[in-house]
Amino acid sequence: MTMQADIDDPQDDPKRPSVLRQGGWAADLANHLSLHREPDAVRMLIKLTTERRLPRSHGLRNAIVDACGADVMDRLAQACAKFECPYCQDGVVTCERCEGEGRADDGSWCRACLTLGNIACAFCGGSGLATYDFFPLGIQGSVIHTRTLLTIDQLLDVLESPLPSPTPANAASLVGALMARTKQLSRIRSVLRNSLEAARGEVDHHPEDRGILAKLALRSWRALCRTELELARALNALADAFSSTASPPIAGGGGDRKSIEERDAILNEEACRMEASASDMIRRLKPHG
Ligand SMILES: [Zn+2]
Ligand SMILES: [Zn+2]
Repeated sequence: MTMQADIDDPQDDPKRPSVLRQGGWAADLANHLSLHREPDAVRMLIKLTTERRLPRSHGLRNAIVDACGADVMDRLAQACAKFECPYCQDGVVTCERCEGEGRADDGSWCRACLTLGNIACAFCGGSGLATYDFFPLGIQGSVIHTRTLLTIDQLLDVLESPLPSPTPANAASLVGALMARTKQLSRIRSVLRNSLEAARGEVDHHPEDRGILAKLALRSWRALCRTELELARALNALADAFSSTASPPIAGGGGDRKSIEERDAILNEEACRMEASASDMIRRLKPHG
């Protein structure tokens, strides 16, 4: 009876590395990672836990470390952290309301997508990455941690390059550069928002990691403030760039000018909202230092 029970469901016991090593999965997993087939490694992990050849929650990390070593575990967490959302590319999808045009058939600007033609993917919240619950519970904490730190690094990279500003030479490329920056910052913002929520939720599953998770939530919070402030700057700059690169109003018309002002207002409004959100977050941060 005991034997049968073990065969049916032996994997929840982290003290059984010999059973866990059966089938050569450890070598396959390490192989995928060393050959830079990260998505294959992630799919393999999901399969192993779904088939219950590895525990889904408690003991999963230890089982992988025991069988493959800490280095493979770290690389697997990185692979999971970067695993893309299956429903979008870089966190955005074409805006359905304006079909990606940024304005409706009657010429009015689309507020749903801030005139930009795409909106955040509803599935991943705009992060462009698989949601945390896609991964087995036993590894979610590592994925949250790794993804947050990677994203903070990406934010620092963005902040290191100055906000593109208009020069006679870059008139043609300025809008594109600002659009790219806006998109990048929006994606970073979504990842950090998800991380913050996930780090707080994770405390329920791992009260013993409360200290680490609180520190992670605080870092996400701070990075989120910086992201929103920079995103507000990028949106304001984008509005200015649209205005200055728009064709001059047709004589006697003036409709173009009105249209430019409307677009300006939509982008500036969003920038104000972002600044207000960041200020509010900074204010709430103060008591904690
Ligand atoms: Zn739209
Ligand atoms: Zn998505």
